[in-house]
Amino acid sequence: MTAISLTGLTKVYPGDVTALDTLDLEIRDGEFFALLGPSGCGKTTLLRTIAGLESATGGTVAIGERDVTALPPGRRDVAMVFQDYALFPHMTVRDNIGYPLKIKKAPAARRSAKAAEVAAELGLDGYLARRPGQLSGGQQQRVALARAMACHPSVFLFDEPLSNLDARLRLEARTFLKRLQRELGVTTVFVTHDQAEALALADRIAVLEAGRIRQLGTPTEIYRRPANTFVASFIGSTPMNLLPGTVRGAWVRVGDALLPGPMGTEAGALPEGAEVVYGIRPEYLRYTAQHAADVPGALPGRVTVIENLGSTQLLTLDPVAGGPPLQVTVPEDLPVTVGEPGYALPRPERVLIYRDG
Ligand code: ADP
Ligand code: MG
Repeated sequence: MTAISLTGLTKVYPGDVTALDTLDLEIRDGEFFALLGPSGCGKTTLLRTIAGLESATGGTVAIGERDVTALPPGRRDVAMVFQDYALFPHMTVRDNIGYPLKIKKAPAARRSAKAAEVAAELGLDGYLARRPGQLSGGQQQRVALARAMACHPSVFLFDEPLSNLDARLRLEARTFLKRLQRELGVTTVFVTHDQAEALALADRIAVLEAGRIRQLGTPTEIYRRPANTFVASFIGSTPMNLLPGTVRGAWVRVGDALLPGPMGTEAGALPEGAEVVYGIRPEYLRYTAQHAADVPGALPGRVTVIENLGSTQLLTLDPVAGGPPLQVTVPEDLPVTVGEPGYALPRPERVLIYRDG
């Protein structure tokens, strides 16, 4: 059983930089857990503090049943894969993979056998005698992974391990990593600034901002119901539209338009006249060129940009009444021209209302 339990974890660097701010987090046994957030939010610091490469300023780290807060990295039974892989350039792939076993004073024959076994699992059989410089980026990434696997740690810690791969390789490696984690069942903490990567890989995600967790949930929960405008604007291939508005009964006034409030119980909980942020993803807006003037539910605007995304088009619509432009996803074959007037209609069941922005 290898859950990870962080309690009140705080890290203050010299110069009074608070990288982790009294953070509480339970990562479950066998879970693929993603730490997601913008650059500088404390992801690497959190991972390094779990690994023991940074000491905590306050709070505790428990791995399994053990409080490891005061233990050195070598005694925590974790393996970390770094963003730049940190392979030894002068060593062969065999020696790189076997290195953790060398630290543990395993005999050479056993190191070599283990390296060959793990290399075979990761499709690196033919490369054992090469040096890292003679491998592609994707292969180097697998060597780093193999090295992490070599001594069967209880926990994998990955710091943006796919970020140095080009787009296609990154997708391949992502699928590979997910399958491998499923097979091994090892508790995994995966750091990324890429929301798509986190959504695709993780069982659960913690979204971080400035050393604090802004939301914790499954990919579906975080995508469907971002808890605040920070998470809302961070998750999604195109950011959510966030429009300032005012509550009017079951509707929200945005500019001159009345847009449907959210369906369900929350609508009634919003006080009349409250200033809110109206959240709707581009893919949950419908676009039409024609709309009856006296029927509410549509925001009038003018198409100013059309982006071809392959299977869809992304329209930018400047509202007639002013305010921030909004983005609308439409089918690839919808005829639309720059400059035409049109309307965006929210799907009420996908509307989110925020009062934090
Ligand atoms: P992330 O990995 O999310 O980009 P980091 O954990 O690297 O974030 O950094 C979090 C914050 O701590 C940043 O403000 C960063 O500048 C600061 N920081 C990181 N490492 C150090 C260090 N060794 N000394 C001082 N400040 C640091
Ligand atoms: Mg980092």
